Amino acid sequence: MKIGVLGGGQLGRMMALAAYPLGLRLRFLDRAEDASAGQVAECVTASFEDQEALRSFAATLDVVTYEFENVPASTAHFLSGLVKRFMPPPRALEIAQDRLTQKTLFGKVGVPTAQFASASTAAELEAAIETTGLPAVLKTRRWGYDGKGQAAVSHARQTAQAWVSLGNSPLIVESFVRFDRELSLISVRSTTGDTAFYPLTENHHQDGILRLSLAPAAGIPTQVQATAELYAQKLLQELDYAGILTIEFFYRDGVLLANEMATRVHNSGHWTIEGAETSQFENHLRAVCGFPLGATSPRGYSGMVNFIGTTPGVTSLLAIPGLHLHLYGKSPRLGRKLGHATISAASPELLAARLNPLCSLADCDMRAPVPASRGGP
Ligand code: AMP
Repeated sequence: MKIGVLGGGQLGRMMALAAYPLGLRLRFLDRAEDASAGQVAECVTASFEDQEALRSFAATLDVVTYEFENVPASTAHFLSGLVKRFMPPPRALEIAQDRLTQKTLFGKVGVPTAQFASASTAAELEAAIETTGLPAVLKTRRWGYDGKGQAAVSHARQTAQAWVSLGNSPLIVESFVRFDRELSLISVRSTTGDTAFYPLTENHHQDGILRLSLAPAAGIPTQVQATAELYAQKLLQELDYAGILTIEFFYRDGVLLANEMATRVHNSGHWTIEGAETSQFENHLRAVCGFPLGATSPRGYSGMVNFIGTTPGVTSLLAIPGLHLHLYGKSPRLGRKLGHATISAASPELLAARLNPLCSLADCDMRAPVPASRGGP
């Protein structure tokens, strides 16, 4: 089967590496000539708006998918008319690109979120703050990622200035959530309707960028995992979805509030490459091709650390027992994700002992919390 992938970043690269053992061939399309996936698979350089290039890209493809959330929805719709299958569905991509339509969908299917309201004028902003209360978080509806495009406000007098700092763009205003931990659920649904879910992952950010993921997240009651899966199931069904769907949650006292979804493979699921029976990348491909899904059970305890802006020396990294290194072949730049490493271990204590030197090397400003065994709070 021949699969087209829109976007050729590191997510695409890891998808290509998962595709080879399954005998699948991937063809990427990316605007950059030096796209990371182009080092390991066929990659067409073209704009997402170039219809002629899209036509020739799609020729001989069975399925088209994407690894980049900012693919124009018009491109997704155009390609879905050219190939047998475009998955995840263009509608899911379109909804995910706007934080307001996303949260509205969550509300419609019964996935709880923080209180929110939309605002495009000063009067609407004032009314929105009345709905959410203060403190609140102002977020641009579109093009926000890695914590960009948002501002927290504690006093009504700060709102006008905060909005100017966001370019006076249309906003979603949310209540500020006092959470203990940030968790994500990587879920997958095949074109056959089968679903599978990985254990909840705990995520730690620095400067708005994911630095450390721990999986399975420690001390999560079985009921909370089941609730997260139920929420994902509702979204997967409503969207008639195939592929990986990621939901990011705020967690406190047994309660999950959904913050956002990503209709693609996700950084917080990189640990699944070595830490689960089947990686998120393989399961995404299985799902969009309509193959049976692979098992999502964890292999022990895993920690994943991102390399942002710089990469530690390879020799020092590889000296850490149980470490698996992934470098993306990208040139260093401030704030850029250049690679990651995953460590899996048989016990939480062993994982913590191995993660601490990795965190030091990667300048990841957090000691790896010692995870408790799974199951109890
Ligand atoms: P986002 O761009 O929506 O993923 O938000 C980036 C980060 O900002 C999240 O990972 C949270 O740490 C924080 N954040 C976002 N929304 C809220 C909220 N409503 N309340 C508190 N913190 C938030």
